[in-house]
Amino acid sequence: MEGCLFCEIAEKKRPAEVVFETDEVVIFKDANPKARVHLLVVPKKHIASVKDATDGDRALFGGLILAARDAAARENLAGYKLLFNVGRDGGQVIDHVHLHLIAS
Ligand code: 5GP
Ligand code: ZN
Repeated sequence: MEGCLFCEIAEKKRPAEVVFETDEVVIFKDANPKARVHLLVVPKKHIASVKDATDGDRALFGGLILAARDAAARENLAGYKLLFNVGRDGGQVIDHVHLHLIAS
């Protein structure tokens, strides 16, 4: 999507510290980390928010969670938090779905 920060990162039009990538997902370090480990697990498909997902996106969301699990395993994290902020009132600032992977 034109002008979307995370689409631009996924398309390599904007730099990011990418730690993992598949055809469907890119995982990169949060630019303003809230903990020792703070990764963003981002689908390459533009979906503005969890609220905007369709039934056809069920597999995509399952893939995001398992991609996060795999990234956590590679980082040898014993435990972590997975978080979607949804909508402005839910703390969402970037309007492209992303799963926060956070560990201290
Ligand atoms: P939200 O509040 O939308 O759930 O989270 C957006 C996250 O994206 C924030 O934690 C913020 O630090 C991060 N972020 C914002 N802009 C950039 C950027 O240009 N690059 C990276 N790597 N992270 C960003
Ligand atoms: Zn986007």
